[in-house]
Amino acid sequence: MRFIDEFRDPALAEKLFTEIAQTAKRIGAVRERPVTIMEVCGGHTHTIFRYALESRMPDNVQFAHGPGCPVCVLPRGRVDDAITIARRPEVIFTTFGDAMRVPGAEGSLIQARAAGADVRMVYSPLDALALAVANPDREVVFFALGFETTTPSTALTVLRAARSGVRNFSLLCHHITIIPTLRALLEQPDFPIDGFIGPGHVSMVIGTKPFHFIPEEFGLPLVVAGFEPLDVLQSLLMVLRQIEMGRACVENQYSRVVPPDGNKAAMAAVAQVYETRPQCEWRGLGTIAESGVRLAEPWAAFDAERRFEPAARHTPDPEGCRCNEVLVGRIRPWDCAAFGTTCRPDAPLGALMVSSEGACAAYYQYQGMKGAA
Ligand code: SF4
Repeated sequence: MRFIDEFRDPALAEKLFTEIAQTAKRIGAVRERPVTIMEVCGGHTHTIFRYALESRMPDNVQFAHGPGCPVCVLPRGRVDDAITIARRPEVIFTTFGDAMRVPGAEGSLIQARAAGADVRMVYSPLDALALAVANPDREVVFFALGFETTTPSTALTVLRAARSGVRNFSLLCHHITIIPTLRALLEQPDFPIDGFIGPGHVSMVIGTKPFHFIPEEFGLPLVVAGFEPLDVLQSLLMVLRQIEMGRACVENQYSRVVPPDGNKAAMAAVAQVYETRPQCEWRGLGTIAESGVRLAEPWAAFDAERRFEPAARHTPDPEGCRCNEVLVGRIRPWDCAAFGTTCRPDAPLGALMVSSEGACAAYYQYQGMKGAA
C-alpha cells in the first residue's frame, strides 16, 4: 500500500539497524553509560513494541517511554468526575473507546455504563454533537481528551454547536499540552534522558519551533518523527548522530507531514475557543503549570464543568502502581511488581496498561512477560 509499504521495507530497516549499531559503537567508545532516548508519543511506543525495534537495539542504546499518551496521563480524579456527570439521569456521556476503560477510584466509565449510566463510545466530537441534535431532551457531554492533536477538532465542534444553536451539548475538557510538560520533565533533577524522538502528530498542529528550547536551554537533541518503523529507526539514527557529533538541535524527520510553522487554521480555532489553565493535573506526573486548556469565557455555555460542577477530585494512584516512574523513564514496565500480575490489559491497575499506546500495555501485548522473567 502506497505511503505504508515503503516505510516498512525490511531491507531498508536492516540498513538502518546496521547504521544505528555502528553509530552506537562509536558513541560507546567515548562514553561509559548507555544512551537513553525518550519517545515522547504513545504512537511511537506502539511502533517500537509492535515491530520489536527494541529487541534489535545495541546494548548501549535504550528507549524510555514518555508521557505522550493522553489516556495514560488522565488523572484518576478526572475519571471520577466524569463518572459523577455520566450518572446523572439527563446525561448522555460520550467519549473515545480507550477512555472508557481508564480506572478511577470508583471504577471506569465502562463499569458505570454496566451499572446503568448512559455512556456511549463515539469516534469524533461531531458524533457527540449529532447525538445532541437527535436527543434535544437530554444533555450530551463529550469527554474532550488529548494533546494539541485533538484540541482543534473539539474547538471546531464547539464553534459549530454555537453556529447551529445547539444548547444541550457540552465538553468535559481535559485537553493537555506537551511543551510545558517536557519542560517540567527536563527540570527534574537527574532527568535520565539523552535525547528525544519528538511527537509527529502534535507537531503537525504546532510545528517544530516550540521544541527549540530543548536544545537551546537543555542541550539535548530532538527529532520530530513519523510513526512507521522506518520513521522511528531513521529518527533514532538522527538523534544518535547528533549525540556522536556533540550537537543538539531540532530536526524534522516527518517533513512529509509536519510543516515548521504547524497548522495555522487549527491553532487559530484553538486560540478562539480555549484559554490556558493555570494548573493541570497529570496522572503520574502531578500538577504542571499551564499544561492544559479550558473553555474560554465566551464559550462557558458549552463547559460541562460549569454546567454540572463536579467535585474536581484529586485521587492518588493505587498502591503498588509505578506508572509515574515508567512515564519519566526511570524504570521499564516489567520493573513494576504489578506488571502482568495484578495489572494486566483485562484488569488494569494503572493507566499505562489501558491504551494500546501505553508502554505497559504495548509491551505486554507484544512481548508478554519476557522482560519480567
Ligand atoms: S504495570 Fe500497571 S501499575 Fe505498573 S507501571 Fe505499568 S500500568 Fe502502572
